Amino acid sequence: MSGRLLIVDAMSTNRIVLRVKLLAAKYDVEAVASCEAADAAIARRMPDLILINLFDGTDDSLAFCARVRRAAATRNIPIISVGGQDTSAARFSALDAGADDVLPRPICDTLLMARVRNLLRRGNRARELDMRSETLRMMGLDDAAGPRIAPACVTLLSDSGIAIASIGGMLQSGLRQRIRTMGIDGVLSDHGQPVSPDVFVIDARSHCDAGDDLFRLLADLRTRDTTRHAAQLILLPANDLRTAALVLDLGADDVILGAFEGDELCHRTRALVAHKLHRDRLMDQVNTGLAAAMTDPLTGLFNRRYALAHLHRIAEQACESGCNYALMVADIDHFKSVNDTYGHSVGDRVLMGVGACLRDSFRPDDLVARIGGEEFLIVMPRTSVEDATVAAQRLREMIGAKPFDANGDRPALHVTISVGIAAGSAAMPTGGTLDALFDRADVALYRAKAEGRNAVAVDLSAA
Ligand code: GH3
Ligand code: MG
Ligand code: MG
Repeated sequence: MSGRLLIVDAMSTNRIVLRVKLLAAKYDVEAVASCEAADAAIARRMPDLILINLFDGTDDSLAFCARVRRAAATRNIPIISVGGQDTSAARFSALDAGADDVLPRPICDTLLMARVRNLLRRGNRARELDMRSETLRMMGLDDAAGPRIAPACVTLLSDSGIAIASIGGMLQSGLRQRIRTMGIDGVLSDHGQPVSPDVFVIDARSHCDAGDDLFRLLADLRTRDTTRHAAQLILLPANDLRTAALVLDLGADDVILGAFEGDELCHRTRALVAHKLHRDRLMDQVNTGLAAAMTDPLTGLFNRRYALAHLHRIAEQACESGCNYALMVADIDHFKSVNDTYGHSVGDRVLMGVGACLRDSFRPDDLVARIGGEEFLIVMPRTSVEDATVAAQRLREMIGAKPFDANGDRPALHVTISVGIAAGSAAMPTGGTLDALFDRADVALYRAKAEGRNAVAVDLSAA
């Protein structure tokens, strides 16, 4: 994985050693001696990750860290604090200053690389989602996704009763919320309540061979629908650097090696909760935006853009399967006079009602879309023109008989539709010929209109 890394350290030997290691791993590395130089480097070229010595005895680096975190352009850049003592209190002070992780000296190369890869992945994901969400915002499609109301859910997994009591207590008092606790086997069994937390804190310290069991557990959690999006914080024995590096590469989000205090544990858990909720919100936005991009807001039916793409797919499938399909265009008769007589809002409600009738009248794999003001497209895979005509006549009768609310004291109003049908042949190649198919259905529709409306007409060239 390539990435631009920025090293900030006043000690030239530290800079050089770290730079050589990262260059050897094929990263694009820039090393600077001061925070001032780091600001200039960022202004020149945005790094993907920053490695900084936050324990150089000056306040500069802490202020720099806070600056990076505050600025909109840089706040997603992961920061690793390199150096300092390997104690929970020292680690906490670096995390509290804004670092995403801490690597004490002497640096374990395997863990360094795994941390870098892990945080680069996280940064890339955050950037990608931010970008997609920004595009949707620019398209005006993000309004529907509000913030999540429910509180975050943290689940502690441990096979030790003592650990459950002590770690669970730390989390509960630090995060001020109830923590769900369970044995490691419990989460994998399919019995009982499904668990779908935002964060798993997994105590793997008591396993002498944390390796295999732990890898299986993490992989299993990542494959289940209910748990695969949950962040994972793994607690490991102090000397188990190799396992730490492996679990980070396997997709765990964070690791604590050795003894820790409540401050550090809760800080890391809180950060994972915040990442997870931010990601959930962006995913919701993207999903809502996609739904908005393919549906018509008034009727909830598919819109023209989606319908044309899907029609293409149906035509391709027809060629593959050898089954013909039918395409129909339905248009409300004299709809302009509905608006003129009753007003636009009554017209809108008629459109919604006709849309609902259409949705309820066809099979789940039929395509039903609103492709114009009062014009609808229905495509029925594996359907002959004769069967489509029966369905269209039924629909025409149903809509004609349906009373629509005309507002106020007025009697209910009635509308009718006309339908034009064309046969999509399995032998027909896709592409430009779909336009021709559309045109044929349109010609049939105009015939239905010319014959007096409230009618179904079939494209004659199909016979
Ligand atoms: P015909 O039987 O020949 O189809 O006549 P028509 O009046 O239905 O057709 P025309 O194309 O003349 O008018 C369509 C009308 O549909 C005009 C337009 O104001 C109305 N319309 C289009 N979109 C909307 C909408 O979203 N809401 C409402 N209320 N009316 C709409
Ligand atoms: Mg019309
Ligand atoms: Mg029309």
